[in-house]
Amino acid sequence: MNNNLDPRDPRRYRSNYAPYGEPEIKRTYTPEEAGHDKHRKPVTRASYNARRRKRKKPNVGVIVIISLFVLVAAACIWLLLSGNNNPENIPDNDKHVPLGSEKTEDELLEEIICPDTDDPNDNKEELLPYFTVTLTEDDIHMGDLILVNSYHEYLFPEEMEKNIVKISDHNNGYYGTSAYNTAVYLSGEALNAFNKMTEDNFNDTGFKWLQVNSAYRSLEHQQQLYSDYLRDYGQDYVDKYVATPGYSEHHTGLGIDLNVNRNGSISYVESDAECGWFREKCQEYGFVLRYPDDKIHITGIDFESWHYRYVGVPHAQIMEDLNLCLEEYVDYLKTYTFDGECLSYSAETGIYQTTAEEFYKAESGIMIYYVPADAENGETEVSIPKDCEYTVSGNNVDGYIITCEK
Ligand SMILES: [Zn+2]
Repeated sequence: MNNNLDPRDPRRYRSNYAPYGEPEIKRTYTPEEAGHDKHRKPVTRASYNARRRKRKKPNVGVIVIISLFVLVAAACIWLLLSGNNNPENIPDNDKHVPLGSEKTEDELLEEIICPDTDDPNDNKEELLPYFTVTLTEDDIHMGDLILVNSYHEYLFPEEMEKNIVKISDHNNGYYGTSAYNTAVYLSGEALNAFNKMTEDNFNDTGFKWLQVNSAYRSLEHQQQLYSDYLRDYGQDYVDKYVATPGYSEHHTGLGIDLNVNRNGSISYVESDAECGWFREKCQEYGFVLRYPDDKIHITGIDFESWHYRYVGVPHAQIMEDLNLCLEEYVDYLKTYTFDGECLSYSAETGIYQTTAEEFYKAESGIMIYYVPADAENGETEVSIPKDCEYTVSGNNVDGYIITCEK
């Protein structure tokens, strides 16, 4: 037993240090206590997979309607053309050409089939300062800002699973991995940011003792971990401390468990004197402490000084500046919309509000807004300013967060 640890830390009750990786320390809260809407029907892995299967089936009704429409349109065009070319038909220009028009019937017909592209009304889309993209229900469950907790299951989208990479293949030499868990995987984007951060940390301070204990966990891995703890520590323990498979943030490849290992001497990121640079700067690289001490009543997870989460920039910095955990931030972003006020951030001025109009005119800047998913249609049209770089992340609840930068 390690009595130097916080009484709430499960490692206090274990003789070996993190044999299976750090467990999540769970607490059970009612949805109201945790600020969640229990009336909303949760998306489960089963319903998600059923929906994916359903989407792959062709819709026979739609195909029949489209085929009929094409046949009718083709018949109309054929009638028009054949009527004009039939030598037995006497041309009657007065009947078909409007009074005062110099155009022949052929010219008018060509205009109908190939409209004049110089007409400004035909280029309306090109003149708009934004364009639209269509997002699907699947997009709700992907991206750096997805919220995974006891109320919002991770659905293992293929796109996110494809992005998982092995840390040891890309380790820059400025951090280590646990001897217990050498095959550690992380989302490629999160690993790039982590590599940049650890390299800058080393260049600024000479510190290179961070150790990654656990990051991505597949469903099978979490199930194995759950059964190992169940076997060794019993049901009460796993109910309290180990995340139910499917509900661990580690599935996303965006969560990372860290501590300090100086040639075998282990300490916490939270209390290690040389970790000050990391604790202060990690937000600039897109990482946040996911389960802080003052948010236990919202996250439903006890303080975990080792668990960091990649949410990207500038989101991590905004969360830090406003002292919001991810549950709160996802809700907070819902007040910012494309047609209303949008959220912005700059290193010089910090957080401020902007509008799409202001963003179009600005030479550079950031614009963040939320778009609720169209649950009725299953597809959502999203407006995005032209001439900027943008990312789309689902929130794993009910919509999308768009981040634009130029
Ligand atoms: Zn963790």
